[in-house]
Amino acid sequence: MMDPVLNFIDGAFVPAQNGTTLNTVNPATGEVITTLPKSSSDDVEAATAAALRAAPAWAATTMDERIAWLHRIADALEDDRETVAQLESKDTGKPIALARRVDAARSVSNFRFFAEFGAQHSDPTFTDHGAINHLHRSPIGCVGLITPWNLPLYLLSWKVAPALLMGNTIVAKPSELTPLTANHLAVVMERIGFPSGVFNLVHGLGPDVGQAIVEHPDIRGVSFTGGTATGKIVAATAAPMFKKLSLELGGKNATVVLDDAPLDEIMAGLVRASFTNSGQVCLCGSRILVDASIYELFKSKFTEAVESITVGDPSEEQTSMGSVISHDHRGKVESYIRLAVEEGGRVLTGGTSGDAPVEGVSQQGAFLRPTVIEGLSHTSRTATEEIFGPVVTLHAFHTEDEAVEMANATEYGLAGSVWTADTERGHRFAQRLDTGIVWVNTWLNRDLRTPFGGVKQSGVGREGGAWSVNFFSELTNICVQQP
Ligand code: NDP
Repeated sequence: MMDPVLNFIDGAFVPAQNGTTLNTVNPATGEVITTLPKSSSDDVEAATAAALRAAPAWAATTMDERIAWLHRIADALEDDRETVAQLESKDTGKPIALARRVDAARSVSNFRFFAEFGAQHSDPTFTDHGAINHLHRSPIGCVGLITPWNLPLYLLSWKVAPALLMGNTIVAKPSELTPLTANHLAVVMERIGFPSGVFNLVHGLGPDVGQAIVEHPDIRGVSFTGGTATGKIVAATAAPMFKKLSLELGGKNATVVLDDAPLDEIMAGLVRASFTNSGQVCLCGSRILVDASIYELFKSKFTEAVESITVGDPSEEQTSMGSVISHDHRGKVESYIRLAVEEGGRVLTGGTSGDAPVEGVSQQGAFLRPTVIEGLSHTSRTATEEIFGPVVTLHAFHTEDEAVEMANATEYGLAGSVWTADTERGHRFAQRLDTGIVWVNTWLNRDLRTPFGGVKQSGVGREGGAWSVNFFSELTNICVQQP
């Protein structure tokens, strides 16, 4: 077993005050990797006290000093990128190649990006009535960062970097299912001599640790990424305290294939949009809407491409899909596959682990085959509820208006993609989707300067570039009358 994961509070690694622990399990093998603290509100209290003590000195550092720290963290994570990829692959069951290409790489680039963004960012001044208005930014103070299990360090670093850049101190809680890379970030912070108390990490369960962070009156801002049901609890808890709140929640994203789409050229992109990380990316397209005139052709090409995905041991270089996050989660995904059949759907490929077992992997692993289902109404439960696994449904439409109506017919509005030979047509179509992001002929193509976030039940607020700077700072307008 690896050494136990500990909380990181005031620059020191410490167990939970109550001494209890949880196990973190490799979902591809069922093996216990190590233990982590099962912390309580007492540990959140200690972390918050440390963050508040560290706040004045950290807020007093210059922007250039903080930028230098972000570069040092990025350098250290870059040196450790293979370690980060290995830890992430073990903790999540995702393929090592994916963990290297996406998780380890993006964790470095989040710190690098915000360091460079901070160096370039400046606020405007406004002159009117003989006065100049200057914008003055101060940190919020101590912020709470709560993150899910699908992209553990990728999503945590997306919040930590801008929070530090703007002079805040942090109490962070990763998912208890995936504590290893957040712990490694703390190891890196200690190694490079990062100031104690500025970054604190408390491990444990959401209702204990996450809830205590959101409830804490001295934590003045919370950035939360996770499911919509949890987001509602977070919002209801934080609202009466008028905390700054950023909510990045669930999705049920549409992938729209127009009649002129060059199917052979785009097929790899469509498979990637559907099944990256076993479909456990909030941005994955889980409903594919296809023009009826090309539906049959699309179906056969897509099914063939999906059947060529290599599902297997995540530690093997050639594996393109590993396990899902846990047996519980596999059970949830399988319940949706069974529901789809009850709702009249036909499974074209894949299915439950009983019906379509994955060969050559640990029998204790939570594996599923990528699954494609047709024949469902676009308003069925399977086609409107977030499954967050390797399951997509296919639906035919007859007109662009019908495609828009189908794409918008869920309570979510996080992302979508449109595939067409005519980029102008794709651009026009994209403007009619009720979502925070639409990709045209691409997917998960991210410029970190752009706003990221959802509408409807997919969240409130935007992060990325200037939007993160705005979230993680308070603005004072100083109006100076000119002589
Ligand atoms: P959850 O909502 O279950 O958990 C997210 C985090 O919140 C975890 O750290 C969890 O802890 C914690 N938490 C649970 N209860 C509370 C509470 N009462 N107060 C505060 N924090 C709490 O999401 P999952 O981890 O299952 O992640 C999957 C979800 O995340 C999907 O819905 C997905 O769409 C969404 N997501 C959204 C993204 C976006 O950018 N919009 C990006 C990635 C994922 P614990 O794990 O211990 O329960």
